Amino acid sequence: MTATLMKGKPLAERIRSEVADEVGRMGHIGLVTVLVGDDPASEVYIRLKHKAATEAGFDATDLRLPAATTEEELLAKLAELNESPEIDAILVQLPLPGQIDEAKVIRAVAPAKDVDGFHPLNAGELYLGRPAIVSATPRGVMALLAEHKVELDGARAVVIGRSAIVGKPVMHLLQQANATVTLCHSHTKDLQRQTLDADVIVAAVGVPALVSPDMVRERAVVVDVGMNRTDAGLVGDVDPGALEVASLMTPVPGGVGPMTIACLLENAVRCARYRRGELAYPG
Ligand code: NAP
Repeated sequence: MTATLMKGKPLAERIRSEVADEVGRMGHIGLVTVLVGDDPASEVYIRLKHKAATEAGFDATDLRLPAATTEEELLAKLAELNESPEIDAILVQLPLPGQIDEAKVIRAVAPAKDVDGFHPLNAGELYLGRPAIVSATPRGVMALLAEHKVELDGARAVVIGRSAIVGKPVMHLLQQANATVTLCHSHTKDLQRQTLDADVIVAAVGVPALVSPDMVRERAVVVDVGMNRTDAGLVGDVDPGALEVASLMTPVPGGVGPMTIACLLENAVRCARYRRGELAYPG
């Protein structure tokens, strides 16, 4: 039996249309993206985010700064954006050029305008089990699981990858949904032993086809976050052969990818609601 595909596009479109309604209701939501330098991959991401934001009715500003921008200059710009009454949500595209301390920049974005949810305060609220702004990709993963009514309460989940932007937030969200979560990484011994025990596998690694069909338990649910550019095109972290074993699986492309942008826009609405006092930001 072949797994049912958990396609991201239809759900992402629904979310984006709900976001557009919210933008219409609020009248104005100001989103600014900040790109320092001209990394080609970052330019593509920024372009996609702007297209989606503009289509949803946001007032989106595409701020470009030269590659030689100093840390002080970037921090000064962020302080200005933090204060601006026109700006609800701020996104600083990573990675930043080497002369800039990324951690310092992440801390410099006002937490309630931190649309990526990378600020330590947002990461900390998630850790404490009272999520405020949660990064978009992990939210996209959870939304796909919810859409397909995957039972997480009591389920055994294995997350492969422990990055601060995907693996760790997914681990927290799954745990908060009452799954029993094992977090695996490059030092995990016998990964297959872990994955074969899992009802739900989330792969967020960046290694093409790391998860082979023989690592997936019969009828397991598999979410493939990986986006790896290869000669054969964009591929995930899971070997597509796993479709013959899993019950539900996300395609790459067209799975988690579209969800990330939709959830980012949802986060921007949340930021706008914080700024208008419709929602109380923690603390
Ligand atoms: P990352 O920061 O490079 O983290 C990769 C994680 O994978 C690390 O925790 C690493 O372990 C672990 N790892 C590496 N090799 C491994 C192995 N052989 N076995 C087990 N674990 C291994 O990557 P990321 O930013 O989380 O992104 C992961 C993937 O998701 C990438 O393909 C990226 O392009 C994709 N992504 C997709 C979206 C989307 O919208 N679909 C969004 C973000 C990222 P250590 O910690 O031990 O090094």
